[in-house]
Amino acid sequence: MEMENEVVSRNFIEQEIDKDLEEGVYDHVVTRFPPEPNGYLHIGHAKSIILNYGLSQQYHGEFHMRFDDTNPTKEKVEFVDSIKKDIAWLGADWKDHLYFASDYFDQMYEAAVKLIKKGKAYCSDLSPEQMREYRGTLTEPGKEDPNKGRSVEENLQIFEDMKNGKYQDGEMVLRANIDMASPNINMRDPIIYRVAHMHHHRTGDKWCIYPMYDFAHPIEDAIEGITHSICTLEFEDHRPLYDWVVRELEYPQPPRQIEFAKLYLTGVVTGKRYIKKLVEDGIVDGWDDPRLVSISALRRRGFTPESIRKFVELCGVSKANSSVDYAMLEYCIREDLKVTRPRAMAVLHPLKLVIDNYPEDQTEELDVQNNLENEALGSRKVPFSKELWIEREDFMEEPPRKYFRLFPGNEVRLMNAYFVTCTGFEKDEDGNITEVHCTYDPETRGGNAPDGRKVKGTIHWVSAKDALKVTARLYENIALEDEEGNIYNKEDGSLNVNPNSLETIEDCYVEPSLKDAKAFDSFQFVRNGFFTVDYKDSKEGEPVFNRIVSLKSSYKLPKNN
Ligand code: ATP
Ligand code: MG
Repeated sequence: MEMENEVVSRNFIEQEIDKDLEEGVYDHVVTRFPPEPNGYLHIGHAKSIILNYGLSQQYHGEFHMRFDDTNPTKEKVEFVDSIKKDIAWLGADWKDHLYFASDYFDQMYEAAVKLIKKGKAYCSDLSPEQMREYRGTLTEPGKEDPNKGRSVEENLQIFEDMKNGKYQDGEMVLRANIDMASPNINMRDPIIYRVAHMHHHRTGDKWCIYPMYDFAHPIEDAIEGITHSICTLEFEDHRPLYDWVVRELEYPQPPRQIEFAKLYLTGVVTGKRYIKKLVEDGIVDGWDDPRLVSISALRRRGFTPESIRKFVELCGVSKANSSVDYAMLEYCIREDLKVTRPRAMAVLHPLKLVIDNYPEDQTEELDVQNNLENEALGSRKVPFSKELWIEREDFMEEPPRKYFRLFPGNEVRLMNAYFVTCTGFEKDEDGNITEVHCTYDPETRGGNAPDGRKVKGTIHWVSAKDALKVTARLYENIALEDEEGNIYNKEDGSLNVNPNSLETIEDCYVEPSLKDAKAFDSFQFVRNGFFTVDYKDSKEGEPVFNRIVSLKSSYKLPKNN
Protein backbone atom coordinates (compact mmCIF):
# COMPACT_ATOMS: atom_id res chain seq x y z
CA MET A 1 0.00 0.00 0.00
CA GLU A 2 1.26 3.44 -0.87
CA MET A 3 1.81 5.86 1.96
CA GLU A 4 1.45 9.60 2.06
CA ASN A 5 3.91 11.65 4.11
CA GLU A 6 6.53 8.94 4.41
CA VAL A 7 8.38 9.80 7.60
CA VAL A 8 11.61 8.55 9.05
CA SER A 9 10.38 7.24 12.37
CA ARG A 10 7.00 5.58 12.57
CA ASN A 11 5.16 5.25 15.84
CA PHE A 12 4.44 1.83 17.26
CA ILE A 13 0.85 1.79 16.04
CA GLU A 14 1.92 2.60 12.50
CA GLN A 15 4.52 -0.14 12.73
CA GLU A 16 1.87 -2.65 13.80
CA ILE A 17 -0.44 -1.59 11.00
CA ASP A 18 2.39 -1.75 8.45
CA LYS A 19 3.09 -5.30 9.60
CA ASP A 20 -0.57 -6.32 9.38
CA LEU A 21 -0.78 -5.00 5.83
CA GLU A 22 2.48 -6.63 4.81
CA GLU A 23 1.45 -9.98 6.23
CA GLY A 24 -1.96 -9.71 4.62
CA VAL A 25 -3.87 -9.83 7.93
CA TYR A 26 -5.83 -6.90 6.49
CA ASP A 27 -5.69 -5.30 3.07
CA HIS A 28 -7.09 -1.96 4.21
CA VAL A 29 -7.47 0.12 7.36
CA VAL A 30 -10.65 1.15 9.18
CA THR A 31 -10.44 3.04 12.48
CA ARG A 32 -13.06 4.58 14.72
CA PHE A 33 -13.64 7.01 17.56
CA PRO A 34 -16.20 5.57 19.99
CA PRO A 35 -17.20 8.13 22.65
CA GLU A 36 -19.81 7.44 25.24
CA PRO A 37 -22.23 10.38 24.93
CA ASN A 38 -22.08 11.19 28.63
CA GLY A 39 -20.17 14.47 28.66
CA TYR A 40 -18.21 16.94 26.62
CA LEU A 41 -15.04 15.93 24.83
CA HIS A 42 -11.74 17.19 26.16
CA ILE A 43 -8.18 17.58 24.93
CA GLY A 44 -7.48 13.91 25.73
CA HIS A 45 -10.27 12.82 23.40
CA ALA A 46 -8.86 15.15 20.76
CA LYS A 47 -5.73 13.05 20.81
CA SER A 48 -7.68 9.89 20.16
CA ILE A 49 -9.78 11.53 17.41
CA ILE A 50 -6.78 13.00 15.63
CA LEU A 51 -4.83 9.76 15.95
CA ASN A 52 -7.62 7.57 14.61
CA TYR A 53 -8.64 9.95 11.86
CA GLY A 54 -5.01 10.55 10.91
CA LEU A 55 -4.36 6.82 10.51
CA SER A 56 -7.42 6.40 8.31
CA GLN A 57 -6.17 9.22 6.08
CA GLN A 58 -2.59 8.07 6.00
CA TYR A 59 -3.59 4.55 4.90
CA HIS A 60 -6.38 5.73 2.58
CA GLY A 61 -8.88 3.92 4.74
CA GLU A 62 -12.09 4.77 6.55
CA PHE A 63 -12.82 6.58 9.78
CA HIS A 64 -16.00 5.76 11.71
CA MET A 65 -17.73 7.99 14.20
CA ARG A 66 -19.59 5.75 16.63
CA PHE A 67 -21.55 6.65 19.69
CA ASP A 68 -21.01 3.95 22.24
CA ASP A 69 -24.46 4.22 23.73
CA THR A 70 -24.98 0.74 25.14
CA ASN A 71 -25.35 1.99 28.69
CA PRO A 72 -28.74 3.67 28.93
CA THR A 73 -29.10 6.76 31.09
CA LYS A 74 -31.37 9.68 30.46
CA GLU A 75 -29.07 12.64 30.13
CA LYS A 76 -27.28 11.47 27.03
CA VAL A 77 -29.02 13.03 24.05
CA GLU A 78 -27.68 16.55 24.55
CA PHE A 79 -24.10 15.36 24.33
CA VAL A 80 -24.46 13.73 20.92
CA ASP A 81 -24.63 17.06 19.12
CA SER A 82 -21.80 18.68 21.04
CA ILE A 83 -19.56 15.69 20.35
CA LYS A 84 -20.34 15.75 16.63
CA LYS A 85 -19.65 19.46 16.49
CA ASP A 86 -16.32 19.11 18.27
CA ILE A 87 -15.13 16.27 16.07
CA ALA A 88 -16.10 18.09 12.89
CA TRP A 89 -14.37 21.23 14.16
CA LEU A 90 -11.17 19.26 14.73
CA GLY A 91 -11.34 18.33 11.07
CA ALA A 92 -12.07 14.61 11.43
CA ASP A 93 -14.52 13.90 8.62
CA TRP A 94 -16.47 10.69 9.15
CA LYS A 95 -18.31 11.20 5.83
CA ASP A 96 -21.35 8.88 5.95
CA HIS A 97 -19.84 6.61 8.60
CA LEU A 98 -21.88 7.72 11.57
CA TYR A 99 -22.99 4.87 13.81
CA PHE A 100 -24.75 4.19 17.07
CA ALA A 101 -23.83 1.07 19.00
CA SER A 102 -27.48 0.78 20.09
CA ASP A 103 -28.35 0.03 16.44
CA TYR A 104 -26.59 -3.29 16.95
CA PHE A 105 -28.62 -4.50 19.93
CA ASP A 106 -30.34 -7.19 17.83
CA GLN A 107 -27.00 -8.48 16.56
CA MET A 108 -25.57 -8.45 20.06
CA TYR A 109 -28.51 -10.46 21.30
CA GLU A 110 -27.98 -12.96 18.49
CA ALA A 111 -24.28 -13.09 19.34
CA ALA A 112 -25.14 -13.97 22.94
CA VAL A 113 -27.50 -16.71 21.76
CA LYS A 114 -24.71 -18.08 19.58
CA LEU A 115 -22.38 -18.26 22.57
CA ILE A 116 -25.03 -20.04 24.64
CA LYS A 117 -25.53 -22.57 21.85
CA LYS A 118 -21.78 -23.20 21.76
CA GLY A 119 -21.79 -23.74 25.49
CA LYS A 120 -19.75 -20.57 25.86
CA ALA A 121 -22.22 -18.59 27.92
CA TYR A 122 -24.62 -19.34 30.74
CA CYS A 123 -27.20 -17.57 32.85
CA SER A 124 -26.55 -16.94 36.51
CA ASP A 125 -28.62 -15.75 39.42
CA LEU A 126 -25.70 -15.14 41.78
CA SER A 127 -26.14 -11.93 43.73
CA PRO A 128 -23.52 -9.18 43.24
CA GLU A 129 -22.01 -10.14 46.62
CA GLN A 130 -21.77 -13.80 45.69
CA MET A 131 -20.39 -12.84 42.31
CA ARG A 132 -17.59 -10.97 44.04
CA GLU A 133 -16.92 -13.82 46.41
CA TYR A 134 -16.77 -16.42 43.64
CA ARG A 135 -14.53 -14.26 41.51
CA GLY A 136 -11.45 -14.82 43.69
CA THR A 137 -8.59 -12.39 44.02
CA LEU A 138 -5.37 -11.52 42.25
CA THR A 139 -3.64 -14.30 44.16
CA GLU A 140 -6.48 -16.83 44.42
CA PRO A 141 -8.42 -18.43 41.58
CA GLY A 142 -12.18 -18.01 41.46
CA LYS A 143 -14.78 -20.72 42.15
CA GLU A 144 -17.14 -22.22 39.61
CA ASP A 145 -20.60 -20.67 39.50
CA PRO A 146 -23.19 -23.26 40.66
CA ASN A 147 -25.39 -22.13 37.73
CA LYS A 148 -22.88 -23.53 35.28
CA GLY A 149 -24.41 -27.00 35.04
CA ARG A 150 -27.57 -26.02 33.12
CA SER A 151 -28.23 -27.33 29.63
CA VAL A 152 -28.00 -25.14 26.54
CA GLU A 153 -31.81 -25.33 26.19
CA GLU A 154 -32.36 -24.12 29.74
CA ASN A 155 -29.90 -21.29 29.27
CA LEU A 156 -31.55 -20.26 26.01
CA GLN A 157 -34.91 -20.21 27.75
CA ILE A 158 -33.69 -18.15 30.71
CA PHE A 159 -31.92 -15.68 28.42
CA GLU A 160 -35.09 -15.26 26.38
CA ASP A 161 -37.01 -14.75 29.62
CA MET A 162 -34.48 -12.10 30.62
CA LYS A 163 -35.16 -10.34 27.34
CA ASN A 164 -38.92 -10.65 27.83
CA GLY A 165 -38.87 -8.94 31.19
CA LYS A 166 -39.42 -11.94 33.46
CA TYR A 167 -36.58 -10.85 35.74
CA GLN A 168 -36.04 -7.74 37.76
CA ASP A 169 -32.82 -5.75 37.65
CA GLY A 170 -30.01 -7.75 39.21
CA GLU A 171 -31.91 -11.05 39.37
CA MET A 172 -30.20 -12.73 36.44
CA VAL A 173 -27.16 -12.15 34.24
CA LEU A 174 -25.53 -13.87 31.30
CA ARG A 175 -21.91 -14.83 31.86
CA ALA A 176 -19.25 -15.88 29.37
CA ASN A 177 -17.99 -19.38 30.07
CA ILE A 178 -14.24 -18.89 30.02
CA ASP A 179 -11.99 -19.75 32.94
CA MET A 180 -12.56 -19.06 36.64
CA ALA A 181 -8.91 -19.90 37.31
CA SER A 182 -7.47 -17.44 34.81
CA PRO A 183 -4.75 -15.21 36.24
CA ASN A 184 -6.55 -12.39 34.40
CA ILE A 185 -9.65 -11.58 36.45
CA ASN A 186 -11.35 -10.15 33.36
CA MET A 187 -11.43 -13.71 32.00
CA ARG A 188 -13.16 -15.25 35.03
CA ASP A 189 -16.55 -15.74 33.40
CA PRO A 190 -17.28 -12.03 32.95
CA ILE A 191 -20.87 -10.82 32.83
CA ILE A 192 -21.84 -10.05 29.26
CA TYR A 193 -25.54 -9.18 29.62
CA ARG A 194 -27.51 -7.73 32.50
CA VAL A 195 -31.15 -6.95 33.18
CA ALA A 196 -31.86 -3.20 33.38
CA HIS A 197 -35.40 -1.93 33.03
CA MET A 198 -34.27 1.42 31.67
CA HIS A 199 -35.36 3.69 28.90
CA HIS A 200 -32.79 4.16 26.16
CA HIS A 201 -32.49 7.45 24.27
CA ARG A 202 -32.67 5.69 20.90
CA THR A 203 -34.27 2.29 21.42
CA GLY A 204 -36.82 3.47 23.94
CA ASP A 205 -38.32 0.59 25.95
CA LYS A 206 -37.59 -2.13 23.43
CA TRP A 207 -34.89 -3.69 25.61
CA CYS A 208 -34.69 -4.49 29.28
CA ILE A 209 -31.39 -6.29 28.92
CA TYR A 210 -28.22 -4.49 27.95
CA PRO A 211 -24.79 -5.82 26.93
CA MET A 212 -21.70 -5.06 29.00
CA TYR A 213 -18.96 -2.92 27.48
CA ASP A 214 -16.37 -5.70 27.09
CA PHE A 215 -18.83 -7.81 25.14
CA ALA A 216 -20.43 -5.01 23.13
CA HIS A 217 -17.32 -3.16 22.01
CA PRO A 218 -15.62 -5.95 20.01
CA ILE A 219 -18.97 -6.78 18.38
CA GLU A 220 -19.46 -3.13 17.37
CA ASP A 221 -15.97 -3.09 15.88
CA ALA A 222 -16.50 -6.39 14.07
CA ILE A 223 -19.90 -5.41 12.62
CA GLU A 224 -18.43 -2.22 11.16
CA GLY A 225 -15.39 -3.97 9.75
CA ILE A 226 -12.99 -2.00 11.93
CA THR A 227 -9.48 -3.34 11.43
CA HIS A 228 -7.59 -1.53 14.18
CA SER A 229 -9.49 -0.76 17.35
CA ILE A 230 -7.27 1.78 19.04
CA CYS A 231 -7.93 2.51 22.68
CA THR A 232 -6.15 3.62 25.82
CA LEU A 233 -3.95 1.55 28.14
CA GLU A 234 -6.55 0.76 30.79
CA PHE A 235 -8.04 -1.71 28.30
CA GLU A 236 -4.84 -3.68 27.89
CA ASP A 237 -5.96 -6.28 30.45
CA HIS A 238 -9.27 -6.55 28.65
CA ARG A 239 -7.69 -7.45 25.33
CA PRO A 240 -7.78 -11.24 25.97
CA LEU A 241 -11.54 -10.92 26.43
CA TYR A 242 -11.85 -8.77 23.30
CA ASP A 243 -10.00 -11.44 21.36
CA TRP A 244 -12.08 -14.21 22.93
CA VAL A 245 -15.34 -12.51 21.90
CA VAL A 246 -14.39 -11.99 18.27
CA ARG A 247 -12.90 -15.49 18.04
CA GLU A 248 -15.86 -17.32 19.60
CA LEU A 249 -18.29 -15.37 17.44
CA GLU A 250 -16.24 -16.48 14.43
CA TYR A 251 -16.05 -13.17 12.64
CA PRO A 252 -14.26 -13.75 9.32
CA GLN A 253 -11.93 -10.77 9.71
CA PRO A 254 -11.76 -9.96 13.40
CA PRO A 255 -10.65 -6.48 14.45
CA ARG A 256 -7.49 -6.03 16.47
CA GLN A 257 -7.17 -3.92 19.61
CA ILE A 258 -4.07 -1.77 20.11
CA GLU A 259 -3.58 0.35 23.23
CA PHE A 260 -1.72 3.64 23.68
CA ALA A 261 -1.11 5.90 26.66
CA LYS A 262 -3.69 8.54 27.55
CA LEU A 263 -2.76 12.15 27.18
CA TYR A 264 -2.35 13.89 30.51
CA LEU A 265 -1.76 17.62 30.78
CA THR A 266 -0.10 19.02 33.87
CA GLY A 267 -2.02 21.49 35.98
CA VAL A 268 -5.32 21.24 34.13
CA VAL A 269 -8.61 19.66 35.10
CA THR A 270 -10.03 17.00 32.79
CA GLY A 271 -12.07 14.85 35.16
CA LYS A 272 -15.79 15.23 34.54
CA ARG A 273 -16.49 15.07 38.27
CA TYR A 274 -14.30 18.11 38.98
CA ILE A 275 -15.55 20.12 36.03
CA LYS A 276 -19.12 19.42 37.06
CA LYS A 277 -18.36 20.75 40.52
CA LEU A 278 -16.70 23.88 39.14
CA VAL A 279 -19.81 24.49 37.03
CA GLU A 280 -22.19 23.82 39.91
CA ASP A 281 -20.24 26.03 42.29
CA GLY A 282 -20.40 28.86 39.76
CA ILE A 283 -16.62 29.10 39.58
CA VAL A 284 -16.67 28.61 35.84
CA ASP A 285 -19.42 29.62 33.45
CA GLY A 286 -20.30 26.25 31.97
CA TRP A 287 -18.47 23.41 30.22
CA ASP A 288 -16.99 25.82 27.71
CA ASP A 289 -15.51 28.27 30.20
CA PRO A 290 -12.23 29.39 28.56
CA ARG A 291 -10.22 28.16 31.56
CA LEU A 292 -11.20 24.55 30.94
CA VAL A 293 -9.75 22.16 28.39
CA SER A 294 -12.89 20.69 26.95
CA ILE A 295 -12.77 21.05 23.19
CA SER A 296 -15.60 23.58 23.31
CA ALA A 297 -13.70 25.59 25.95
CA LEU A 298 -10.54 25.58 23.87
CA ARG A 299 -12.55 26.75 20.87
CA ARG A 300 -14.08 29.55 22.93
CA ARG A 301 -10.66 30.48 24.29
CA GLY A 302 -9.49 30.97 20.71
CA PHE A 303 -7.54 27.79 20.02
CA THR A 304 -7.62 26.62 16.41
CA PRO A 305 -8.00 23.05 15.12
CA GLU A 306 -4.57 23.46 13.51
CA SER A 307 -2.96 24.26 16.85
CA ILE A 308 -4.55 21.24 18.52
CA ARG A 309 -3.51 18.96 15.69
CA LYS A 310 0.02 20.30 15.93
CA PHE A 311 -0.01 19.71 19.68
CA VAL A 312 -1.16 16.12 19.29
CA GLU A 313 1.53 15.56 16.70
CA LEU A 314 4.21 16.93 19.04
CA CYS A 315 2.96 14.73 21.89
CA GLY A 316 3.48 11.63 19.81
CA VAL A 317 2.02 8.20 20.53
CA SER A 318 3.39 6.15 23.35
CA LYS A 319 2.87 3.01 25.42
CA ALA A 320 3.97 4.70 28.64
CA ASN A 321 1.85 7.12 30.64
CA SER A 322 3.33 10.58 31.03
CA SER A 323 2.11 14.15 31.24
CA VAL A 324 2.62 17.00 28.91
CA ASP A 325 3.13 20.58 29.97
CA TYR A 326 0.22 22.92 29.26
CA ALA A 327 2.85 25.34 27.99
CA MET A 328 3.31 23.09 24.99
CA LEU A 329 -0.30 23.65 24.00
CA GLU A 330 0.25 27.39 24.37
CA TYR A 331 3.36 27.12 22.25
CA CYS A 332 1.31 25.52 19.47
CA ILE A 333 -1.39 28.19 19.42
CA ARG A 334 1.17 30.98 19.53
CA GLU A 335 3.06 29.52 16.58
CA ASP A 336 -0.17 29.23 14.61
CA LEU A 337 -1.57 32.70 15.33
CA LYS A 338 1.72 34.55 15.02
CA VAL A 339 1.64 34.47 11.26
CA THR A 340 -2.04 33.99 10.55
CA ARG A 341 -3.71 36.76 12.54
CA PRO A 342 -3.73 40.53 12.11
CA ARG A 343 -2.11 42.67 14.78
CA ALA A 344 -3.79 45.60 16.45
CA MET A 345 -3.09 48.07 19.21
CA ALA A 346 -5.09 47.69 22.41
CA VAL A 347 -4.48 49.46 25.69
CA LEU A 348 -5.49 47.31 28.64
CA HIS A 349 -4.66 49.70 31.49
CA PRO A 350 -5.15 53.16 30.02
CA LEU A 351 -3.35 56.40 30.87
CA LYS A 352 -3.95 59.62 28.89
CA LEU A 353 -1.07 61.00 26.83
CA VAL A 354 -1.50 64.54 25.47
CA ILE A 355 0.71 65.82 22.66
CA ASP A 356 0.87 69.52 23.42
CA ASN A 357 2.20 70.63 20.04
CA TYR A 358 -0.21 68.54 17.97
CA PRO A 359 -3.06 70.48 16.29
CA GLU A 360 -6.27 70.40 18.33
CA ASP A 361 -8.79 69.12 15.80
CA GLN A 362 -6.56 67.12 13.55
CA THR A 363 -6.86 63.39 12.93
CA GLU A 364 -4.36 61.59 10.74
CA GLU A 365 -4.87 58.20 9.21
CA LEU A 366 -1.69 56.19 9.49
CA ASP A 367 -1.14 53.23 7.21
CA VAL A 368 -0.19 50.22 9.28
CA GLN A 369 0.69 46.74 8.08
CA ASN A 370 -1.46 44.05 9.65
CA ASN A 371 1.27 41.50 10.19
CA LEU A 372 4.93 42.14 9.55
CA GLU A 373 5.54 38.41 9.12
CA ASN A 374 2.71 37.93 6.64
CA GLU A 375 2.22 40.55 3.96
CA ALA A 376 -0.82 38.79 2.60
CA LEU A 377 -2.78 40.10 5.58
CA GLY A 378 -2.58 43.60 4.07
CA SER A 379 -2.73 46.87 5.94
CA ARG A 380 -5.23 49.11 7.71
CA LYS A 381 -5.74 52.78 8.56
CA VAL A 382 -5.21 53.74 12.20
CA PRO A 383 -6.37 57.17 13.40
CA PHE A 384 -3.89 59.33 15.30
CA SER A 385 -4.74 62.52 17.19
CA LYS A 386 -3.70 64.90 19.96
CA GLU A 387 -4.91 62.73 22.85
CA LEU A 388 -3.96 59.10 23.07
CA TRP A 389 -4.34 56.19 25.47
CA ILE A 390 -1.14 54.47 26.45
CA GLU A 391 -0.48 51.68 28.96
CA ARG A 392 -0.09 52.90 32.51
CA GLU A 393 3.11 50.91 32.86
CA ASP A 394 4.65 52.73 29.90
CA PHE A 395 5.15 55.88 31.98
CA MET A 396 7.17 56.29 35.16
CA GLU A 397 7.81 59.42 37.12
CA GLU A 398 11.06 58.05 38.48
CA PRO A 399 12.30 55.32 36.19
CA PRO A 400 14.62 52.58 37.38
CA ARG A 401 17.75 51.76 35.40
CA LYS A 402 17.06 50.21 31.99
CA TYR A 403 13.56 51.63 31.79
CA PHE A 404 13.39 53.00 28.26
CA ARG A 405 9.77 54.01 28.04
CA LEU A 406 8.24 57.39 28.90
CA PHE A 407 9.61 59.45 31.76
CA PRO A 408 10.17 63.18 32.01
CA GLY A 409 12.70 64.28 29.39
CA ASN A 410 12.83 60.92 27.56
CA GLU A 411 12.03 60.39 23.89
CA VAL A 412 10.24 57.23 22.71
CA ARG A 413 8.62 55.98 19.54
CA LEU A 414 4.86 55.74 19.36
CA MET A 415 4.54 52.56 17.36
CA ASN A 416 3.90 53.21 13.64
CA ALA A 417 3.57 56.94 14.36
CA TYR A 418 6.00 59.57 15.71
CA PHE A 419 8.78 60.17 18.20
CA VAL A 420 7.51 61.98 21.29
CA THR A 421 9.41 63.51 24.20
CA CYS A 422 7.86 63.56 27.64
CA THR A 423 7.49 67.09 28.98
CA GLY A 424 5.48 66.61 32.15
CA PHE A 425 2.56 64.94 33.90
CA GLU A 426 -0.37 65.66 36.20
CA LYS A 427 -1.41 64.02 39.43
CA ASP A 428 -4.63 63.95 41.46
CA GLU A 429 -4.82 64.66 45.22
CA ASP A 430 -3.96 61.04 45.98
CA GLY A 431 -0.81 61.20 43.95
CA ASN A 432 -2.09 59.09 41.07
CA ILE A 433 -0.83 60.06 37.67
CA THR A 434 -3.80 61.23 35.61
CA GLU A 435 -2.22 62.56 32.46
CA VAL A 436 1.16 62.65 30.75
CA HIS A 437 2.28 65.43 28.45
CA CYS A 438 4.68 65.32 25.55
CA THR A 439 5.66 67.00 22.29
CA TYR A 440 6.04 65.19 19.00
CA ASP A 441 8.53 65.61 16.19
CA PRO A 442 6.54 65.93 12.94
CA GLU A 443 9.63 64.83 10.99
CA THR A 444 9.46 61.33 12.44
CA ARG A 445 6.16 60.23 10.87
CA GLY A 446 6.13 56.46 10.42
CA GLY A 447 8.48 56.01 13.35
CA ASN A 448 11.92 56.97 12.03
CA ALA A 449 13.95 60.14 12.42
CA PRO A 450 15.44 61.60 9.22
CA ASP A 451 18.55 62.66 11.16
CA GLY A 452 19.13 59.06 12.15
CA ARG A 453 18.71 59.53 15.89
CA LYS A 454 17.52 56.49 17.77
CA VAL A 455 15.18 55.87 20.66
CA LYS A 456 15.34 52.84 22.91
CA GLY A 457 11.66 52.44 23.65
CA THR A 458 8.62 51.85 21.45
CA ILE A 459 5.17 51.94 23.01
CA HIS A 460 1.72 51.36 21.56
CA TRP A 461 -1.26 53.69 21.81
CA VAL A 462 -4.83 54.27 20.70
CA SER A 463 -6.34 57.59 19.64
CA ALA A 464 -8.58 58.59 22.56
CA LYS A 465 -11.44 60.12 20.59
CA ASP A 466 -11.57 57.24 18.11
CA ALA A 467 -10.98 54.37 20.52
CA LEU A 468 -13.49 51.62 21.10
CA LYS A 469 -13.98 50.80 24.76
CA VAL A 470 -14.07 47.06 25.37
CA THR A 471 -13.87 44.43 28.08
CA ALA A 472 -10.86 42.14 28.11
CA ARG A 473 -10.45 38.99 30.16
CA LEU A 474 -7.14 37.55 31.22
CA TYR A 475 -6.84 34.01 32.49
CA GLU A 476 -4.61 31.96 34.68
CA ASN A 477 -4.84 28.24 35.43
CA ILE A 478 -8.06 27.35 37.17
CA ALA A 479 -6.10 25.09 39.52
CA LEU A 480 -3.11 25.83 41.68
CA GLU A 481 -0.27 23.35 41.94
CA ASP A 482 1.28 22.52 45.29
CA GLU A 483 5.05 22.06 45.77
CA GLU A 484 4.82 18.60 44.23
CA GLY A 485 2.82 19.77 41.24
CA ASN A 486 -0.48 18.31 42.47
CA ILE A 487 -3.67 20.21 41.82
CA TYR A 488 -5.75 17.96 44.06
CA ASN A 489 -5.81 18.26 47.81
CA LYS A 490 -3.96 15.32 49.38
CA GLU A 491 -6.43 14.92 52.24
CA ASP A 492 -9.86 15.10 50.63
CA GLY A 493 -9.09 14.97 46.91
CA SER A 494 -10.73 18.32 46.29
CA LEU A 495 -9.39 20.66 43.64
CA ASN A 496 -7.04 23.48 44.68
CA VAL A 497 -8.95 26.27 42.99
CA ASN A 498 -6.96 29.34 41.98
CA PRO A 499 -8.93 32.38 43.22
CA ASN A 500 -7.23 34.59 40.60
CA SER A 501 -7.83 32.55 37.49
CA LEU A 502 -9.94 35.27 35.88
CA GLU A 503 -9.16 38.98 35.62
CA THR A 504 -11.82 41.08 33.94
CA ILE A 505 -10.78 44.53 32.73
CA GLU A 506 -13.80 46.65 31.86
CA ASP A 507 -12.25 49.75 30.33
CA CYS A 508 -9.72 48.82 27.72
CA TYR A 509 -9.31 50.89 24.60
CA VAL A 510 -8.74 49.34 21.21
CA GLU A 511 -8.44 50.57 17.65
CA PRO A 512 -11.83 51.45 16.16
CA SER A 513 -11.41 48.86 13.39
CA LEU A 514 -12.12 46.17 15.98
CA LYS A 515 -15.73 47.27 16.23
CA ASP A 516 -16.64 44.82 13.49
CA ALA A 517 -14.81 41.86 15.01
CA LYS A 518 -17.00 38.77 15.07
CA ALA A 519 -17.17 35.93 17.57
CA PHE A 520 -14.11 33.67 17.30
CA ASP A 521 -12.09 36.26 15.32
CA SER A 522 -8.66 36.54 16.80
CA PHE A 523 -5.91 39.14 16.86
CA GLN A 524 -2.50 39.79 18.17
CA PHE A 525 -2.74 42.81 20.46
CA VAL A 526 0.81 44.07 20.22
CA ARG A 527 2.79 43.57 23.41
CA ASN A 528 -0.31 42.17 25.17
CA GLY A 529 -0.95 38.77 23.68
CA PHE A 530 -3.39 36.98 21.42
CA PHE A 531 -7.07 37.66 21.98
CA THR A 532 -10.31 36.31 20.57
CA VAL A 533 -13.84 37.65 20.54
CA ASP A 534 -15.99 35.77 23.05
CA TYR A 535 -19.07 34.26 21.43
CA LYS A 536 -21.20 34.27 24.56
CA ASP A 537 -20.71 37.70 26.06
CA SER A 538 -20.01 39.94 23.06
CA LYS A 539 -22.74 42.13 21.61
CA GLU A 540 -23.00 43.76 18.20
CA GLY A 541 -20.31 46.45 18.13
CA GLU A 542 -19.25 45.62 21.70
CA PRO A 543 -16.78 42.79 21.55
CA VAL A 544 -15.49 41.10 24.69
CA PHE A 545 -11.95 39.84 24.22
CA ASN A 546 -10.59 36.69 25.85
CA ARG A 547 -6.86 36.39 26.06
CA ILE A 548 -5.88 33.18 24.34
CA VAL A 549 -2.25 33.28 25.36
CA SER A 550 0.43 35.81 26.15
CA LEU A 551 3.08 36.57 23.56
CA LYS A 552 6.09 35.09 25.23
CA SER A 553 6.97 32.18 27.40
CA SER A 554 10.11 30.63 28.71
CA TYR A 555 8.82 27.31 27.41
CA LYS A 556 11.20 25.29 25.25
CA LEU A 557 10.08 22.36 23.13
CA PRO A 558 11.38 19.04 24.44
CA LYS A 559 14.60 17.95 22.69
CA ASN A 560 13.22 14.98 20.79
CA ASN A 561 11.03 17.22 18.68
P1 ATP B 1 -13.26 10.63 30.34
O1 ATP B 1 -13.76 9.83 31.49
O2 ATP B 1 -12.03 11.43 30.64
O3 ATP B 1 -14.30 11.46 29.66
P2 ATP B 1 -13.49 8.24 28.78
O4 ATP B 1 -12.41 7.27 28.42
O5 ATP B 1 -14.49 7.79 29.75
O6 ATP B 1 -12.77 9.60 29.23
P3 ATP B 1 -14.98 7.84 26.40
O7 ATP B 1 -16.07 8.64 25.81
O8 ATP B 1 -15.30 6.50 26.92
O9 ATP B 1 -14.27 8.72 27.52
O10 ATP B 1 -13.75 7.73 25.41
C1 ATP B 1 -13.77 7.83 24.03
C2 ATP B 1 -12.39 7.50 23.54
O11 ATP B 1 -11.46 8.52 23.94
C3 ATP B 1 -11.85 6.19 24.09
O12 ATP B 1 -11.29 5.46 23.03
C4 ATP B 1 -10.81 6.63 25.09
O13 ATP B 1 -9.80 5.67 25.21
C5 ATP B 1 -10.30 7.94 24.49
N1 ATP B 1 -9.74 8.81 25.52
C6 ATP B 1 -10.34 9.25 26.63
N2 ATP B 1 -9.52 10.01 27.38
C7 ATP B 1 -8.34 10.08 26.69
C8 ATP B 1 -7.07 10.70 26.92
N3 ATP B 1 -6.84 11.42 28.02
N4 ATP B 1 -6.10 10.55 26.00
C9 ATP B 1 -6.32 9.84 24.89
N5 ATP B 1 -7.48 9.22 24.60
C10 ATP B 1 -8.49 9.32 25.49
MG1 MG C 1 -16.26 6.95 29.77
